[in-house]
Amino acid sequence: MPRLFERGGDTVSFAGGLPDLDVLPLDAISRQMSGLVRLGGRIALQYSTPHVAQALVPAIGDLMGREGACPAAAGDLVPTSGSQMGLMAVGLALAEPGETVLVQTPAYPGAAAAFRTAGLRLHAMPRDARGLAPEGLRETILQLRREGRTARLVYCNPTFQNPTGATLPADRRRELLAVAGELGLTVIEDNPYGLLGFDGQTTDTLKALAPDRVVYLGTFSKVFAPGLRCGWIAAPREQAAALRRTTEVMALSPSALAQAAIAAFHARSGWTELIDRYRASYRERCALMADALERELGGDGQWTWRRPQGGFYLWLRHRDGLDTGPLAAAAAEHGVSFVPGSHFRIDGGPSDALRLCFSHVPRERIAVGVSRLATVLRGAAA
Ligand code: PMP
Repeated sequence: MPRLFERGGDTVSFAGGLPDLDVLPLDAISRQMSGLVRLGGRIALQYSTPHVAQALVPAIGDLMGREGACPAAAGDLVPTSGSQMGLMAVGLALAEPGETVLVQTPAYPGAAAAFRTAGLRLHAMPRDARGLAPEGLRETILQLRREGRTARLVYCNPTFQNPTGATLPADRRRELLAVAGELGLTVIEDNPYGLLGFDGQTTDTLKALAPDRVVYLGTFSKVFAPGLRCGWIAAPREQAAALRRTTEVMALSPSALAQAAIAAFHARSGWTELIDRYRASYRERCALMADALERELGGDGQWTWRRPQGGFYLWLRHRDGLDTGPLAAAAAEHGVSFVPGSHFRIDGGPSDALRLCFSHVPRERIAVGVSRLATVLRGAAA
């Protein structure tokens, strides 16, 4: 895993995917948490059970409903300390060591690391200019099975993807689920950014389209606060039971305090205002970054990108395939950081892309960082 969260001195970091916690109403949250400890501390600070707290179920249902999914029954929910734990639990509970998981590439490195740690083999899902290519997926799975490999899990982050920012179109979602149904695949849908469309638009989740085929990883990290380490898995009942047995081994029980804090916030304020504030912050930061890139690099056409519509990330690619790995050190010398695309490859090869994260950069530093970056990129391309 790259050391994404290190920041220092005058460097402008476009590396780590941190949310902008300036939007959180800290006084209100602090009052709520202190009330929880004062009035209910003997429960909130105690061990709990490996189930989502009853009080939190409506908060999860509200979030999932915003992307088209019916509220999951409590029995289909498994609490996690964030989707990273969910990925590890999936790798351990839903597959046998040695079997192959199909992974959307470029891939979120935390998912690749979790599946590898669980002893799984990774195989890239076929893709084209519109994203995952379901027809190619069918062929790939059949080929793997002919070779005697077991392949029944498919992992993707279909909305405002980490690292590309891309969203899988609705027709591709339906085709993917059709192939999954035909070949008996379980689709792992990792969805931390789905509600962060800048203009409030959402795309129905895979979970909403095929609840029995999809194991959904949800998290409060990007719509509330990652420091609470609180998320959930929504899965068909039998898979939920297997996942719960695994999460119980991993953590015994979730943080009752974190769950109670989020439930209390939701009961009092709902999600709309907070999510709107997150969206507005990211819309503004993304515009500052995209406009600065346009000014600095738009002219010569060597570097290309799509303007993100949501999420945290902008994916910059070099037209002629320049390897971006060696540029990170030069960028650090110029006081700017990013994550080279090679970190998102599952075969460790070089990449002509790099990931820029705008979500947490102070507004007035974005143009400065882009200008430093452009100096490095122009120099390298020349
Ligand atoms: N999946 C994706 C695609 C992510 O980008 C992240 C966080 N960067 C996670 C999962 C893990 O998030 P958390 O454990 O905080 O829920």
